[in-house]
Amino acid sequence: MPHANGTTNGGSSLRLPVPGSTKAFWHTELHDLADHRSTPELPKECEVLVIGSGYAGASVAYNLAKSASTLPNSIVILEARQACSGATGRNGGHLRPDLYGHIPNYIKRYGVEAGGEWAKFEIAHVQAIKKLVAEEDIDCDFTLTRTTDCWADEEAARKAKANYDLMTSLGLPYMEDVDFVYGPKAAGVSGVKDANASATYTAGTIFPYKFIMALLARALDSGKVNLQTNTPATAIHDDPAGGFVVETPRGSIKAKKIVHASNAYVSGLLPEYEKSIVPCKGVCVSITVPEGKTAPYLTNSYIVRDGDKVLSYLIPRDDGSIIVGGTAAIFYPHLEQWYNNTDDSTMIAASEGYYDSFMQRTFRGWEDSEASVSKAWTGVMGYSWDSLPHLGEVPGKPGQYVLAGFNGHGMPVIWLAAEGIAKMVATGKSYEDVGLPWIARTTEERLQKAQKGPEGGDILA
Ligand SMILES: Cc1cc2nc3c(=O)[nH]c(=O)nc-3n(C[C@H](O)[C@H](O)[C@H](O)COP(=O)(O)OP(=O)(O)OC[C@H]3O[C@@H](n4cnc5c(N)ncnc54)[C@H](O)[C@@H]3O)c2cc1C
Repeated sequence: MPHANGTTNGGSSLRLPVPGSTKAFWHTELHDLADHRSTPELPKECEVLVIGSGYAGASVAYNLAKSASTLPNSIVILEARQACSGATGRNGGHLRPDLYGHIPNYIKRYGVEAGGEWAKFEIAHVQAIKKLVAEEDIDCDFTLTRTTDCWADEEAARKAKANYDLMTSLGLPYMEDVDFVYGPKAAGVSGVKDANASATYTAGTIFPYKFIMALLARALDSGKVNLQTNTPATAIHDDPAGGFVVETPRGSIKAKKIVHASNAYVSGLLPEYEKSIVPCKGVCVSITVPEGKTAPYLTNSYIVRDGDKVLSYLIPRDDGSIIVGGTAAIFYPHLEQWYNNTDDSTMIAASEGYYDSFMQRTFRGWEDSEASVSKAWTGVMGYSWDSLPHLGEVPGKPGQYVLAGFNGHGMPVIWLAAEGIAKMVATGKSYEDVGLPWIARTTEERLQKAQKGPEGGDILA
């Protein structure tokens, strides 16, 4: 069935990012490359075609450009809208590894070693990105910080404590970085008024749009990458001469290899991922304190779960403003407003208004701040049926690679995933040989499970 935008791909629906998206705070000042086309015409051919210019596509292109064997102009990036206009340019800027959220599930499913390996993979992103930002001298407000988790609901606090005890009992060394406080002290330690439990550990915060646009700029500076914005890939055919022909509204391009980095939209061109990676909307806002008013500076980032178990992720910015997103528990029952939905041109009605007075309600000392929402926007994530991203060569499609399905949690996953995928593409090495965690490998078995399993899998569990 054709999608509302009227394009199809061999009978399956091709979903493209919609026009007129809500404007994220991060896009207040657009980068010079926002509408960039390296050449006025689409190149006729390339070695590697990358579909998508968010965190995943930009990181793969950057890593490929660094590869010694890459030829000039051999990598082309197709981007349907402006550069970095998808989830990456609309997220919460929270580079927070998951130490005990999904990890207990992964341990149950795949064993302690595999769950621990995945946690270590996420943790490694904090230092890897710190190093990259320093080496490339990227102005993107990267801050190495502690993240504070808070639970207000008593039952949720008890469960968090039990989870923490379980994780520490497994002897996973990274748990030593977690400082868990249970009971009345949690509010004082965290600054969150109703907290009944809190935990802190090492994380980062970042200006995601500036980070990725700088990576794209460095990739273009190499002379090896050609960026074509406002140019969606609409269909892929095998080229009888070898490789692929990719269609766009501006003509077609031949490519020897393809990297699918379109995340939420990936099943448009790879229909086998339709059940495995589902587009789901999320919401974010920026909150500012009016001139003449003051509020305590927050230095940590936060995940706050209120008394109704509504989760918000929050980062402070150095001008005292706050970026916060979440509210899934409120809009969850209204599936039509967020599930299998690519419309980031509208807000999510069910949770509108939640962030009015959020800081006053939540944090000590903010009561008289008159802090208010100055911008609100939505973005579309690729939610994964089994919570893990899909990384590697597309099953049964040699020469096509995928990195997608990062949920609301791509920041501590994508950089090293992209480094691995770029190595596979550049050298022909296998998934195992590039050292990516095995549990995230895209396989026929995972695709089949999502086809046959309950609708939505972990997303709707
Ligand atoms: C509101 C919100 C808050 C979030 N907060 C956080 C957070 O704080 N921390 C965290 O870790 N994660 C967060 N995330 C998730 C994170 O942003 C994503 O996991 C990550 O940005 C995914 O990067 P990506 O490059 O795979 O996808 P995207 O950034 O979405 O990039 C995909 C690109 O592909 C393009 N595209 C799609 N189809 C085509 C096509 N056919 N042809 C060409 N181009 C195409 C799109 O336009 C888009 O630019 C959040 C996401 C949202 C929406």
